[in-house]
Amino acid sequence: MTHELKVYMDSDTDKSKILDKKVAVIGYGSQGYGQSTCLKDSGVDVVIGARLGGNSAKKAEAEGLKVMSIEDAVKWADLIQILIPDEVQSKVYEEQIKPNMRPGQYLMFAHGFNIHFKKIVPPADVNVLMVAPKGPGHTVRSEYLAGKGVPSLIAVYQDPSGDSKEVALAYASAIGAGRAGIYQTSFKEETETDLFGEQAVLCGGLSALITAGFETLVEAGYSPYMAYFECLHEMKLIVDLVNQGGISDMRYSISNTAEWGDLTIGPRIITPAVKDEMKKVLKEIQDGTFANEWMAEYNSGMKKFKELEKKGEEHLIEKVGQELRSKFAWKDADKIINRDKN
Ligand code: NAD
Ligand code: MG
Ligand code: MG
Repeated sequence: MTHELKVYMDSDTDKSKILDKKVAVIGYGSQGYGQSTCLKDSGVDVVIGARLGGNSAKKAEAEGLKVMSIEDAVKWADLIQILIPDEVQSKVYEEQIKPNMRPGQYLMFAHGFNIHFKKIVPPADVNVLMVAPKGPGHTVRSEYLAGKGVPSLIAVYQDPSGDSKEVALAYASAIGAGRAGIYQTSFKEETETDLFGEQAVLCGGLSALITAGFETLVEAGYSPYMAYFECLHEMKLIVDLVNQGGISDMRYSISNTAEWGDLTIGPRIITPAVKDEMKKVLKEIQDGTFANEWMAEYNSGMKKFKELEKKGEEHLIEKVGQELRSKFAWKDADKIINRDKN
């Protein structure tokens, strides 16, 4: 391997680099909730910047967090972590953040999209850095509470104060990442690999694979309940094994019959043509095609986005899933997402 692995753990971080700062977390969605609650528990002086009276402000207050308007939070803070959706960041930055910034502040992101594609161009006298958890925001919180953490990436884009890397490490540690590992990357690498992963494998690839498998069984006349268990429910049970011990641990646990099918049929499903398509998708990420198309969709009212999302929600697999999950004896007791609270 030509790439060297450098990992930072809690003991490699200097907590004072974040404990001596006022931290404004802008937005209280998935990452805003996950990161701010961990920062608070780690003793960081944190406020939420949000639309006053809005849903997010109410949820944050119910969690015991202090809420300010975005403008006031930016003025108050030494470090500003931007956790509103990527597609709204440039507008909110121009109108509410930039006019209230001062030299020497730390402007932080959890994804490099807007900086890398130059949708946001901060002044040279502001530090620009990133702490990007490699997992959903709700999971940042659930792992932190479990005494674990979500591995996170850090990156520095510009560093007039000279200590942005140490600040990023300290912030990452305060959200629990130093228990799992903190890795340094660049805005370019984080942006391109993150977009590729979520499109081709984690979200796009996964949901298309599950749905195609489910539909194949149902169209052949099998019970949608059986199809749901086979193609969706078991996915997590298998992925847990892969996550803990690699593909080889999963193969150790499954039957030899399942393993023979895995080894010989898997490549007939994910064919060389699929990999060629992945390469095209990666090119479109690298050359900015995806970023421009996504911003165009946002700017024209998200019609296609909402239409496709609705189509997914109306799919038979969702109805069957709701019905089956309601039978589990443990109900929703340990569900990570509670849409009323986080
Ligand atoms: P989200 O959609 O869950 O939350 C958005 C928050 O921003 C909400 O509080 C919402 O009320 C607020 N908001 C939306 N529009 C606003 C506006 N115009 N003005 C003020 N507030 C507004 O966001 P998210 O998924 O947590 O993503 C935040 C950032 O974290 C993004 O850069 C994303 O790429 C990155 N990230 C997200 C995840 C994840 O788990 N979702 C993982 C890694 C990185
Ligand atoms: Mg992403
Ligand atoms: Mg089986």
